[in-house]
Amino acid sequence: MNNGTAAVVQVQDLIKDFQGPYGTIQVLKKINLSVQPGEMVGVCGPSGSGKSTLINMITGIDRPTSGTIDIAGSQLNGMSENKLARYRGLHIGVVFQFFQLLPTLTIIENVLLPMDFCRKGTPRQRYERAMSLLEQMGVADQAHKLPASLSGGQQQRAAIARSLANDPPLIVADEPTGNLDSKTAQHVFHIFEELVSQGKTFIMVTHDPGLARRMPRVIEVLDGRLYENGNGNGVH
Ligand code: ADP
Ligand code: MG
Repeated sequence: MNNGTAAVVQVQDLIKDFQGPYGTIQVLKKINLSVQPGEMVGVCGPSGSGKSTLINMITGIDRPTSGTIDIAGSQLNGMSENKLARYRGLHIGVVFQFFQLLPTLTIIENVLLPMDFCRKGTPRQRYERAMSLLEQMGVADQAHKLPASLSGGQQQRAAIARSLANDPPLIVADEPTGNLDSKTAQHVFHIFEELVSQGKTFIMVTHDPGLARRMPRVIEVLDGRLYENGNGNGVH
């Protein structure tokens, strides 16, 4: 399955169709995208242009109609649901706009979940890693609380800790600051900048032009096509 590419993300001829009430809608129109290790990539574009659909293909949350997606050297397309879930758990950290912490689990249990799922290390090692990640994110004092008792910024920092649990090379975030006040958004964005400086590859959808300006590479999604530096469709 390893195709020998050095790219962390390699998207080729990706098409995604959805069935709408009036027939088939092509939401992603044969797009290409390559992201190298250590890159920090912003994804912008109007609401409904296909940003989340693209992100969900890259994270394996949803599957393409046609085309291929390789993450960290393995193609997602042919994987069974079980294999895909496990591969995703080990290689891709996902951060959402509304945090998606499981409400009935404590913060540390949420961070333990991806490690328990992939059975990484001993239970004690997992616990220590979870606590250390929460410390790095500045929310260790919240470890034994339920998500609902935390502020939005604290929940997002806990969710970032969860995304790092299995030490994936790639972090993908869909509007991770969209539900935070601007000061907290800055703080969370700075955490991502630090992760990139530590060698992670990072892709983030954002509506915030100020944050987009701080991304070394920005891709625009317009009506299901990718544009970069004024260069339409087919970003390589
Ligand atoms: P963005 O994240 O850029 O706002 P999305 O990727 O969420 O846009 O959506 C792009 C288009 O695809 C929209 O027209 C949306 O209505 C449609 N769409 C997204 N998911 C589905 C789905 N599961 N079923 C049908 N249509 C969908
Ligand atoms: Mg979206």
